[in-house]
Amino acid sequence: MEEKIPYKTYLAENEIPTQWYNVRADMKTKPAPLINPGTGKPLTLEEMNPIFCEELNKMEIDNDTKWFDIPTEVLEFYKMYRPSPLTRAYFLEKALDTPAHIYYKFEGNNTSGSHKLNSAIAQAYVAKKQGLKGVTTETGAGQWGTALSMACAFLGLDCNVYMVKCSYEQKPFRREVMRTYGATVTPSPSETTAVGRKILAEHPGTTGSLGCAISEAVEAAVSKEGYRYVLGSVLNQVLIHQTVIGLEVQAALKKLGVKADTIIGCAGGGSNLGGLATPFIGEMLRGEADYRIIAVEPASCPSFTRGKFAYDFCDTGKICPLAKMYTLGSQFIPSASHAGGLRFHGMSPILSQLYHDGLFEARAVEQTSVFEAATLFARTEGILPAPESSHAIRATIDEALKCKETGEAKNIVLGLTGTGYFDLVAYEKYNSHEMGDYIPTDEELEQAFAQLPKV
Ligand SMILES: *Cc1c(COP(=O)(O)O)cnc(C)c1O
Repeated sequence: MEEKIPYKTYLAENEIPTQWYNVRADMKTKPAPLINPGTGKPLTLEEMNPIFCEELNKMEIDNDTKWFDIPTEVLEFYKMYRPSPLTRAYFLEKALDTPAHIYYKFEGNNTSGSHKLNSAIAQAYVAKKQGLKGVTTETGAGQWGTALSMACAFLGLDCNVYMVKCSYEQKPFRREVMRTYGATVTPSPSETTAVGRKILAEHPGTTGSLGCAISEAVEAAVSKEGYRYVLGSVLNQVLIHQTVIGLEVQAALKKLGVKADTIIGCAGGGSNLGGLATPFIGEMLRGEADYRIIAVEPASCPSFTRGKFAYDFCDTGKICPLAKMYTLGSQFIPSASHAGGLRFHGMSPILSQLYHDGLFEARAVEQTSVFEAATLFARTEGILPAPESSHAIRATIDEALKCKETGEAKNIVLGLTGTGYFDLVAYEKYNSHEMGDYIPTDEELEQAFAQLPKV
């Protein structure tokens, strides 16, 4: 084992990035704008402002500003749990007997347990500055709801969370963390909104999906005075906030004098992967460097690898704007897999355009192979990873094993997005050999594609 590279590389507090990066400024083909399904035209700020926070809307449509200053208050909050170290996975490398060098960036060292807090505090800060009473949102696995609850509690904002029903039932402890931070949590679909009642009538007994919960949270926001809707992934603004991850990785690698070859992240709505990878993709777009970037998604919800690049609704209830993205169709309800944070039918428009332009590759992996990888990671590196993050671990292990065949000592950077402490029902299923691999058939996908809006 060479001794040169430390196990953990820490940045000093004053080395936390003070600006977020907007990759759109470096993209030749900009992502397509959000479209108002009513008018068929790009969504205007006037149309966005009743639903979302004003400052966030400006960021959302800004294709030109390359760097956004991180507000001092947000930077100070970041200092409670950032910078996160970049860790060399020596023990995993040894177990795999690979010449590859694996580095991981762990974002699970805060109570909410994932990277989502990076955007939650940024969005809650803007809502507070706008003088709002509170925000509404959806949560899938519960990480985003937890993160937003923490941020809202810190700033004294009310927080209403619509939680996908299967997660609400599988993860009662996450719900209690949210309630401890003062949030109201409603299982979705619910009877509390018109769109929830409609979905329940059409799909009785449904375990819900992110798409359903988004519809309910949007309806709740626009029907209450002083509330706006906030979203934890997919949107351009969220990718921008999450670039604090990739910028920290760049700073740490620079300290080490290491150049990354391969960068691997899981992809649900695209925020962690976008945050980790777009600072590197920016270098590629500017012709400064080259990287291999791999998005890893569940075989049960394969937006990049089997989806269509088309305008689609972001929600099941079809009340949200249309986004041009890789999508399985807003009517596609993925099977109740154990990686709730990856159960979304669509994908970030920024990442969708970059993928379409060939800047990175994607692969889909099956649930049981993901938990096999998670188990090896836990046993070697000590961290119990979130099921979502473990998709990226699976691909990292596969790449490291390929290096073993070719003898290449590649530098692989793994985005380890969160902790699995709240996912023990999933680990229980895996450990008891009760976990299956559900892969949608082409017919199922065609059914959902047939309902894509005609734009
Ligand atoms: C939400 C979540 C994801 C997936 O969301 P992205 O927006 O694609 O990053 C991945 N890992 C964890 C731990 C999450 O909470």
